[in-house]
Amino acid sequence: MARHTDPACKRCRREQMKLFLKGSRCFSPKCPIDREARPPGMHGATRTKQTEYGIRLREKQRLKWFYGLLERQFMRYLELASKGSNTGDELLVLMERRLDNVVHRLGFSPCRKGARQLIAHGHVMLNGRKCDVASVLVKPGDIIKVKPAARSLALARLNLQQSGEPTPDYLERINSEEPEGKMNRLPTRGDVDPRIADVRVQLIIEIATR
Ligand code: SF4
Repeated sequence: MARHTDPACKRCRREQMKLFLKGSRCFSPKCPIDREARPPGMHGATRTKQTEYGIRLREKQRLKWFYGLLERQFMRYLELASKGSNTGDELLVLMERRLDNVVHRLGFSPCRKGARQLIAHGHVMLNGRKCDVASVLVKPGDIIKVKPAARSLALARLNLQQSGEPTPDYLERINSEEPEGKMNRLPTRGDVDPRIADVRVQLIIEIATR
């Protein structure tokens, strides 16, 4: 399975914004963005005015990295989204429906990367069956549950206790004490993670369809 291997904080420094890729560290004083770290590279601090292309590229990278996607996966979502009535909204909705995002937003994992690991290691069940594919698109009515094994439950319960994020409207924790949740309806543009909701999707579509 292909994955990002570069340091996560470097991506935030490149975008000069928090992408929340490292769980609790992102909320601690150790976060380089809070310490006003400069963009990576020898000339990071001396970068000049961005070009029109550069602005669009940064917007795309920001969204892609926030959801932990690789270029090819991202382009596949974009192609899928272009079949809908509103490509931008459809793209964001598709990303919100990914199983790793749902596991994270239910509070079972402190970040999307952790959620992917939880899924890949077989700790997550979708509709009663083990699912180890993080990119599965969750549908309304689907039940997301942590495997009833001591280690899996302990991990998810600990994350749930530490999670300070509210559950979005389209998801529901069936039992507030247990790591079990349900998707009530399809997410809409308004349900997108508020930390990335200001992304200018139109610019991304422009660069992708050049
Ligand atoms: Fe690193 Fe998280 Fe801060 Fe990003 S938000 S720089 S991943 S600690």
